[in-house]
Amino acid sequence: MPDTVVSPLSLADRYLPVYRQRALVLERGRGSRLWDSDGREYVDFAAGIAVCGLGHGDPDLLAALQEQAGRLWHTSNVFHSEPPLRLADELVRASRFATRVFLCNSGAEANEAAIKLVRKWAATQGRPPERRTILTFRGSFHGRTLAAVTATAQPKYQAGYEPLPGGFRHVDFNDVAALEAAMGGGDVAAVLVEPVQGEGGVMPAAPGFLQAIRALCDRHRALLVLDEIQCGMGRTGGLFAHWQDGVTPDVVTLAKALGGGFPIGAMLAGPEVAEVMRFGDHGTTFGGNPLAAAVARVALRKLGSAEIAANVARQSAALRAGLAALDDKLRLFSGVRGRGLMLGAVLAPDLAGRAGEILDHAAAEGLLLLQAGPDVLRFVPPLNIGDDDIAEGLQRLGAALRALAR
Ligand SMILES: *Cc1c(COP(=O)(O)O)cnc(C)c1O
Repeated sequence: MPDTVVSPLSLADRYLPVYRQRALVLERGRGSRLWDSDGREYVDFAAGIAVCGLGHGDPDLLAALQEQAGRLWHTSNVFHSEPPLRLADELVRASRFATRVFLCNSGAEANEAAIKLVRKWAATQGRPPERRTILTFRGSFHGRTLAAVTATAQPKYQAGYEPLPGGFRHVDFNDVAALEAAMGGGDVAAVLVEPVQGEGGVMPAAPGFLQAIRALCDRHRALLVLDEIQCGMGRTGGLFAHWQDGVTPDVVTLAKALGGGFPIGAMLAGPEVAEVMRFGDHGTTFGGNPLAAAVARVALRKLGSAEIAANVARQSAALRAGLAALDDKLRLFSGVRGRGLMLGAVLAPDLAGRAGEILDHAAAEGLLLLQAGPDVLRFVPPLNIGDDDIAEGLQRLGAALRALAR
């Protein structure tokens, strides 16, 4: 049947029903605006879940993709191609700590690689399996593969998937004393942490928390692994989120914004661990795909620029001010938290659980917004968003919140 006969929305029941998409079909985008198949226009405060850091249709990303598309799409890791070689070098230089990079296709895969690297590192030190524990934090999110979902210390993501792999323990976030106690047994090989928890409610590490983790890791000979899949790549004001925390990690994972919307992930390994894996120890067919790498090189260069850092600071302040002004009138939030353009507005107690409803109203008013759990509105717009789009998005959010109140 020709594509025009059946509405695409009527085909949604062909999917495994693991998502709850809103009833609209996005068709094209430009900057921080999107249009659906009915021609309705939206301000984009979601950026494909903090992925489209440069918005939609960035001419430099497009040129890189088109140029590479005409040359070579795929080689596998049996052979070299130039874009991933250059990208790996650029990531090493930009990171200020890593000496080697593993390229993959998603965040979960990057964390899976980090988990395996931690285990291999511990194994090469002669530690038995029961002394290769990885500590993670309640409210974290590390992805959906079986190991990553076990690292994800939120029961709702794990229920029904037991038996889960062993060797993970969970500690309260921002609780140094609890971490100290958890590491006392000497079985911990690594601490895996998001500098700003994303899915868990946009919760930043408290000042000094990452430094405290680093010190405990050093004392107990454990590795510090940072999941910057959501908070990295310029989102919180520097190319890497942990720069603000003043720590040097052993491993960092990246994905989401790394390809500017083209799927790619990366695990960056520092000198303590970079030589641990040998030929045949890990791999992936698509990782380091030339199309993805060609686009990511441009995304990395642009997202690491002074212009983006300045704009993140500027629009973060504008967004915070706008949310405060809305709250003054409507009394909706019990607080706004986060860093840079990764902000969460926590709904006041009488609105608890209604984030999903607010997202529906927002879409109806022409604003694409995310939640982070049932009680937090999450703001992760493109990092190059302009003053007008921030103002217009806030205007539409106001309309959505007034519609909710009615
Ligand atoms: C999205 C996310 C992941 C998982 O990435 P996928 O590409 O969906 O596998 C892991 N960690 C964090 C912090 C994330 O935000």
